[in-house]
Amino acid sequence: MPMPGSVPDSRPHWNVAALREYVARFLELHPLVERVVTVLAVLPAEVLDDLLHDPCFRLALDRYVPGRGRTVLLASPSGNWKGSRSVVLKQRLAECAEEFAHYVIAHELAHAYLWNGGWGEITDREEAADALAAHWGFPAPERWS
Ligand SMILES: [Zn+2]
Repeated sequence: MPMPGSVPDSRPHWNVAALREYVARFLELHPLVERVVTVLAVLPAEVLDDLLHDPCFRLALDRYVPGRGRTVLLASPSGNWKGSRSVVLKQRLAECAEEFAHYVIAHELAHAYLWNGGWGEITDREEAADALAAHWGFPAPERWS
C-alpha cells in the first residue's frame, strides 16, 4: 500500500524490494536474481499481478543443461489445464551478456504471460513472445534475431 500522502504509484505492490524478495524465493542467492528483477521491474503492473499472484507461475533454475531459458510444459493430472507457466532459466544467463540475458528472461516471461500462446494477431508463439518482450523494452539483440 502507498504511504498516506505519497504520490500514487502505478504499481504499488511491486517495488524492486518486493520483486527481489519474490524472485529470491525461487532462485535463492543466485546472481541471476538481479537480472530477473531488472526485467520484472519494468513490466506493466497488470502483467506482474497476473503472473506473480498465480500459484501456477514458477521460476526455477536449471542447474544442469547449458543453453538458454525455456518454458517447461508439464502434464496436468486434472482436466482443467490452462497451460504451463513455469519458467526455467539456465545458469548461463547469469554470466552471458546482460542485454541477451534480459531478452531471454523477458521472452520466457512473455511465454508464461501468454500461456505459451499467441499475442493478438501473432499466432506463432515464438514470434508472439519476441514481440511482447520487445514491447516491454527487451528486443532480441541484433546478433540473435
Ligand atoms: Zn520461446
